[in-house]
Amino acid sequence: MAQVKNWQLKREMKYPYEDSRPQKQIAYVFDTNKCIACQTCTVACKTTWTSGKGQETMFWNNVETKPYGSYPMKWDMNLMKDMSDQSWDKTTGAYTGKTIFEDAPRGENAKGWRPEERDYAYPNIGEDECSGIVEKGAFFNGIHDIWMFYLARICNHCTYPGCLAACPRKAIYKRPEDGIVLIDESRCRGYKECVKACPYKKTFYNMVTRVSEKCIGCYPLVEQGEQPRCVTTCIGKIRMQGFLSKPGEERADNPLDYLVRIKKVALPLYPQYGTEPNVYYIPPVHVPKEFLNQMFGPGVDEAIKTYKTAKDDKELLSAFLMFGNTPKIVHKFKSEGDFAVGYNDKNEVVTKVPHTEPVFVRPYYDEKQEAYRHNTP
Ligand code: SF4
Ligand code: SF4
Repeated sequence: MAQVKNWQLKREMKYPYEDSRPQKQIAYVFDTNKCIACQTCTVACKTTWTSGKGQETMFWNNVETKPYGSYPMKWDMNLMKDMSDQSWDKTTGAYTGKTIFEDAPRGENAKGWRPEERDYAYPNIGEDECSGIVEKGAFFNGIHDIWMFYLARICNHCTYPGCLAACPRKAIYKRPEDGIVLIDESRCRGYKECVKACPYKKTFYNMVTRVSEKCIGCYPLVEQGEQPRCVTTCIGKIRMQGFLSKPGEERADNPLDYLVRIKKVALPLYPQYGTEPNVYYIPPVHVPKEFLNQMFGPGVDEAIKTYKTAKDDKELLSAFLMFGNTPKIVHKFKSEGDFAVGYNDKNEVVTKVPHTEPVFVRPYYDEKQEAYRHNTP
């Protein structure tokens, strides 16, 4: 195995192939605090890409309620309980445990497990279930014992994909121009090694065509400068897609670089698996830190602290205002006066959003209609 640099783990690790980072890496930021689990993203993806025969249980995008939701069933628990050591150095923040590649059984490239058919039978298991019983009269008061949050999931277009590492046919590849991970279905023979090795269980086996399939990052849209369907249809405006620069080449005016690498307000999901996933999550503000540290690594406290400063930090606020306000990919953003402005790769303005929305208060009594209005700001 080769030695590669994983910036999320702050160390080198073993991987079956040499390091070859794409020119730019497709990446996403999801704000978990804003997701309402409406599943619009799930339906948008399903109707666009997976409505054919054999794709019935395929959800390239799904949204599960944590702590109990998971699709396929126990996708995260099953691997986590099998991994030998998952610790982080408290001083340096480096990962001292083993990745799925370092913990692989003899003769295999990655540690994993293959779900059974019934694991795909309950896509909404645990939906809206809290971590405990909510007593009568309970109210929200910051961090507390009873909690839940929604976790939207797609393929992470990992820098070191587990699916790619495990494929004996070399049917999986990562595009050098944008880092999107694709399966060449003409090479695939349906061995399901990718299904076993993807720690996020985001490759799916099609029992009709007998090959594996996965999220394609809506590349036909991305190639036209447009964001993917799951992003542009998102009701809660929780998502932004863009590109991350290579480590060390970050630009403060690239919203992805800025949120992920400069402000460190968005964190990778289960970075300890070692695939360097590229969907970054702003952690929920109300959930116990032990749970979040296990899920997003050691940067949770700082990320939440920074997130809460956005109302007084125009730069950060401007980056957040890029979410859900344009279908175009934002390559550059700026805070200009009272506005957040986003630009495409040709330096053309694609969105301009006020930092503060004007508030109009309608009179309590409408003289024209001779009607009283209640609760109508
Ligand atoms: S999330 Fe899974 S399917 Fe997607 S690139 Fe990573 S290992 Fe492959
Ligand atoms: S569309 Fe957006 S808000 Fe609705 S479930 Fe999907 S990620 Fe959450």
